[in-house]
Amino acid sequence: MHGRPAVASVASPFLGVSLLLCASGFAACATGGAAAGSAASPAASASSAERIDAAMNARIRAEGMERSRVLETAIMISDIHGPRLAGSSGFMTAANWARTQLAEWGLASSRLEPWGRRGKAWELERFSVEMLAPYYLRMNAIPKAWSPGTAGIVTGTPVLVTIRGDSDFVRYRGKLRGRIVMNGGTAVPRNRFDAPARRLTDRELDSLTRITDPGEPRTYWEDADGFLEALARRKRIDDFLRDEGAAALLEPSRNANAILTASHVSYSTDRTGAVPAFMVAREHYDAILRLVERQRAVRLELSLTSRFTQTDSLGYNVVAEIPGTDSRVGQEVVMVGGHFDTWQAAAGATDNAAGSAVAMEAMRILKTLGVNPRRTIRMALWDGEEQEDYFGSMGYVKRHYGDPGPMRLLPDHAKFSAYFNVDHGTGRIRGFYLQGNAAARPILAAFLEPFRDLGASTLSISNAGSTDHMPFASVGLPAFNSIQDPIDYDPKTHHTSLDFADYLLEDDLKQSAVVMASLLYHIAMRDERMPRTPLPAPKRANR
Ligand SMILES: [Zn+2]
Repeated sequence: MHGRPAVASVASPFLGVSLLLCASGFAACATGGAAAGSAASPAASASSAERIDAAMNARIRAEGMERSRVLETAIMISDIHGPRLAGSSGFMTAANWARTQLAEWGLASSRLEPWGRRGKAWELERFSVEMLAPYYLRMNAIPKAWSPGTAGIVTGTPVLVTIRGDSDFVRYRGKLRGRIVMNGGTAVPRNRFDAPARRLTDRELDSLTRITDPGEPRTYWEDADGFLEALARRKRIDDFLRDEGAAALLEPSRNANAILTASHVSYSTDRTGAVPAFMVAREHYDAILRLVERQRAVRLELSLTSRFTQTDSLGYNVVAEIPGTDSRVGQEVVMVGGHFDTWQAAAGATDNAAGSAVAMEAMRILKTLGVNPRRTIRMALWDGEEQEDYFGSMGYVKRHYGDPGPMRLLPDHAKFSAYFNVDHGTGRIRGFYLQGNAAARPILAAFLEPFRDLGASTLSISNAGSTDHMPFASVGLPAFNSIQDPIDYDPKTHHTSLDFADYLLEDDLKQSAVVMASLLYHIAMRDERMPRTPLPAPKRANR
């Protein structure tokens, strides 16, 4: 998920701020997401027209609960293959492993499908950040992704700055040459008394259900532009530090508890020539701030060896499927997916080996049961979700279904039923965001009803942003992001140095794979495609 600025989330980081406030209390809200008592409960709104294959659901449960491979798959993707930064050798090795595994499970056309040109790749080789005086400290730090290396060992006294935008440049012009720059002040850790892992309460789920206005982001562009503006601002600060000849940049981690947050202010791909940069654990960073503020003689020493590879390589998604068998709708597609790429600080177990493994396991379950779906069931593991523009999923949508800029659609756009995205950690699926698609509610409610006992029955009309369903929604295709229990995600593992398989919950992953397998199967067997919302307006001639 894109690292949007976190807010005290009650239900999900995907929703606009106003909706979150709604989710926390029943009080009617002034803007977006106004709660209205009228929204019927899911069971009541389930369409009785939908055919539920109880026998198939029982077989899916048995395979998914008793002979599950989901945890092993998530471990193989994460701790065994390590960080999978977009385009890196770690990404490609893990992607090839997934392709082979899917083929071994018997899935058809398991492949690495190019989505477009991705530019440079980045490899981290080694680094160290130490305080030598007034006492020795091996700093808990991580280089920012795409950061160039240092010219050997850099030693020096740090200079404290607060640069948030262009207007701050004038205060530091001519004062930073050869210096180790520390940008950012101390911050009191947030949420100290909040449990890092918890289950969504019935009250929270019910208020999500009752939301009537989907809220922001109403369009793909609303979602993308905010992020791109933040990146542009970030780039201007980086260029200023480079032009001022700073030797290195240290910034504090968003999370406390020695957790390093790898994203947010990481460089984007074209950053050769930038200042070597590190994210530092908040506790260590703040200790140095206090030393410097009290005029103690601080001396730091750091080094970074990293390299850029492949100047203009292709980017790849992992794709595999179970072909449709129906003469009328066999070419139509229902899809599940999640991003496969990670940041560089850890093995991306909860973000997003968990979602990737759920998608793979749902396919394994259906293939093992020998289903003959009417429509084609396809899965994709996306490249580049963490980077600017959902590279992998947007590249895929542009290649197969259409371009949201001019809203130029391709023939296969008419042969698409629905896309389901999983990208919110290890927590079990509690339901889906409908992305404003009210007509989909009774259908999905009917298909989820058999899994009410597993806690998966919530449907919210809300628009969710910040992940790979957005490119599908951008060309008017039905796309649904999962509602999941927040298990250690924002407080601990999301884009951090803690994101390893220790944080995976097997029972939750099993539940998610079972729910997803059943949904895919039933949507593939429907007479009709999933209903659609009106086509969004074209935004730009070209992008
Ligand atoms: Zn993610």
